[in-house]
Amino acid sequence: MTETTEKQMMCIGCGYLLVNLPTQRCPECGRWFNPSDASTFLTSDKRIGWRKHARPPSKLQCFIFASLSFYGLLNASGPAQWGTGSICMAAFVGAPIWFGLLFSYALRALMTWYDRERAALDIRKRRNRWRWSVVPICATLVISSWVYPWPLLLRFRLSQSAFEAAVKNYQAGVSCRGQWVGLYHVKDVSRTTYSGPAARTTIGFMTGSSIIDPVGFEYDPMPNHPTGYMRIEVADSWYTYED
Ligand SMILES: [Zn+2]
Repeated sequence: MTETTEKQMMCIGCGYLLVNLPTQRCPECGRWFNPSDASTFLTSDKRIGWRKHARPPSKLQCFIFASLSFYGLLNASGPAQWGTGSICMAAFVGAPIWFGLLFSYALRALMTWYDRERAALDIRKRRNRWRWSVVPICATLVISSWVYPWPLLLRFRLSQSAFEAAVKNYQAGVSCRGQWVGLYHVKDVSRTTYSGPAARTTIGFMTGSSIIDPVGFEYDPMPNHPTGYMRIEVADSWYTYED
């Protein structure tokens, strides 16, 4: 090969200039390259070959994906089925980024798989393997919450004893309005009394608002009484409400 070509070759892993080397390995990071395969090194023309993407997402990408996932799960742990107004606005921006990072992860995994034979010749194995695990773990948690509302059930179960104490307090004349009940902040408490065959008193704990309506949890001592609106049973005698 000519002197000019050699001068242009740079390591994909660390940018080291690959000139006059006894082996086909970067002396700086141990990455294997092949002088006759232009995809295994960088050149000065700044074009980035596909092998550049054969690596896990960056720490920043992992952090952004984990944060958006946490935000989504937090939203899913609330009583509003489609989230509160502010969360809907955030989802408008966050969802495309989340899906973009998921797509990018799939491409990186594919590129890494294609690069496996060259990578097996590297002296030092790549560190930061944990960065491969962040996206699949977070994606599994988020996607499973679309199938089964486990963040809602989990957060309510952790708050259930506090809500049951709040019912007793409310019946005794003490309202928890404006206070934290378990892991939810209760903005208002109200009572609804029904007469007739389904006579009972329900107590509603409003925790926020969807775009349209107040949402929260309702204590209803009569099991499975039809209410005319969709509600999720989060525990015995406890339901989400949106009205
Ligand atoms: Zn290198």
